[in-house]
Amino acid sequence: MVEAYLPKDLDECLKILNEKKVKIIAGGTDMLIQNRSHTGMSIGYRNDVLYINNLNELKNIYEDDAFVYIGAALSLEKIMESDIAPKLLKETILEMASPAIRHTATLAGNIGNASPAGDSLVSLYLMDAELEIRSINNTRRVFLKDFIKGVRKITLESDELITKVIIPKLMFEKAYFKKVGPRLSDAISKLSFAGAYQIYNNKITDIRIAFGAVNVTVVRDRLLEKKMIGKTIEELKGMIDLLTSWYDPLIVPIDDQRSNKVYRKEVAINLLREFIENLI
Ligand SMILES: Cc1cc2nc3c(=O)[nH]c(=O)nc-3n(C[C@H](O)[C@H](O)[C@H](O)COP(=O)(O)OP(=O)(O)OC[C@H]3O[C@@H](n4cnc5c(N)ncnc54)[C@H](O)[C@@H]3O)c2cc1C
Repeated sequence: MVEAYLPKDLDECLKILNEKKVKIIAGGTDMLIQNRSHTGMSIGYRNDVLYINNLNELKNIYEDDAFVYIGAALSLEKIMESDIAPKLLKETILEMASPAIRHTATLAGNIGNASPAGDSLVSLYLMDAELEIRSINNTRRVFLKDFIKGVRKITLESDELITKVIIPKLMFEKAYFKKVGPRLSDAISKLSFAGAYQIYNNKITDIRIAFGAVNVTVVRDRLLEKKMIGKTIEELKGMIDLLTSWYDPLIVPIDDQRSNKVYRKEVAINLLREFIENLI
């Protein structure tokens, strides 16, 4: 028999996490699918579960001078409705799932699921997002890129909870997210791409490139990005073949039910080319 816990506030939630072995459920849109029964029986959870989606302390979004802070139980739809959520994140969420799913699904759930095809991860990596993680006795902050270690592998202790997603406030000349899927929304990506840049005096001062679903987690290489900084747009456009050769070894997709590795690799490289060709 599986126990389900519904804490009344965050303190009680952290106490339960400290004392019991439970699986966290936020919106449940991944958990329900992963634990569904194919026999028409009810959901087959194997562990006791802890529901966090009624915790008001985790449903806020606010900002200071440097960051936007998004509560772990705030739905994707509410993030899209917010005036302070980063534009790139809102554009990414618009391409995730359907409105019905977005009304319950959360950003922290997309992160906790740690799928290579998790759409929000691509834009969050691009923006150097961080997480606030709490347990009953500790609060820590970690970069998302250091939190996800591989396919469904995260560095979260059994008594810990993601409480906030923290996103630096950034200025980009242009930033965009592109999802390649069987149809937009309500389908998991075959692959995805996010690119952003900043220019001053015709020279690149910041450039960021990230790919989803072409490796065990998001591909973003800060050293390669640094090599592009200081170049003019014309110089970068003239280096396209070199740039794609830098990224080529990092793009190692797999064959699965959604796509195959040859298609994924070719499209990923084409999206990189398109991004560089369209720098203005
Ligand atoms: C029809 C459908 C379409 C979908 N389309 C997309 C899509 O287009 N793009 C996409 O990326 N995903 C998609 N998904 C997957 C899913 O909706 C997202 O990953 C969503 O963001 C998960 O959020 P959730 O709150 O429902 O997570 P849950 O299912 O509640 O949890 C997911 C995982 O995260 C953990 N977790 C949740 N919250 C926390 C927390 N605060 N601290 C620690 N761990 C936590 C859980 O323990 C679990 O392991 C789709 C799912 C469905 C069913």
